[in-house]
Amino acid sequence: MDDRIAQAEAFARKAHAGQTRKGEGAEPYDIHIEEVAALVARFGGADEVIMAAWLHDTIEDCAVDEAEIRDRFGAAVAAMVVELTDDKGLPKAERKRLQVVNAPGKSAGAALVKLCDKMSNVRAVGATPPVHWPVTRRIAYLDWAETVVAALPGGHEAARAEFAACLAASRAAVLAAAGPAPGLAAGQGEGNGPVSPS
Ligand code: ZN
Repeated sequence: MDDRIAQAEAFARKAHAGQTRKGEGAEPYDIHIEEVAALVARFGGADEVIMAAWLHDTIEDCAVDEAEIRDRFGAAVAAMVVELTDDKGLPKAERKRLQVVNAPGKSAGAALVKLCDKMSNVRAVGATPPVHWPVTRRIAYLDWAETVVAALPGGHEAARAEFAACLAASRAAVLAAAGPAPGLAAGQGEGNGPVSPS
């Protein structure tokens, strides 16, 4: 079975070859799928769920079709990847709305991959945000990711706790990068000491 995970990894790395992330580091896309697969493994995902983690963006971003995944990796893995694929024919706002609406119906395996996918993306928005995203858009992304994860079916408590920690760290990083709020600017605080945000 380990061998099948290695095959899913090799297939996904090849499918995403040449793609980069949207963040300022423009890292190879592999870094994202590798992180998601490692998180799914760490939080107890079964082998087929780890395979789906490697493959989760291949239909959406690489023009791979479901039949190919089913032929190579089986119906269960293909079904999870389909669950994790947005319909790119829809406008972006509608796709984001549907992720929230459809989250409660996810299978346990797809829910774990989705949780780890959002964890990876939330971390990236805090650490290497897309440079053309203003602070408001970064915060809106974090809020949306929180809503999607909250709507996923129950379970995966350890992963949820880690997601919450990543979310808090990224919110703090985004706000720190935005600079002090107007009311906290030098000289506007109360007293003479350094002003600390409350
Ligand atoms: Zn992803």
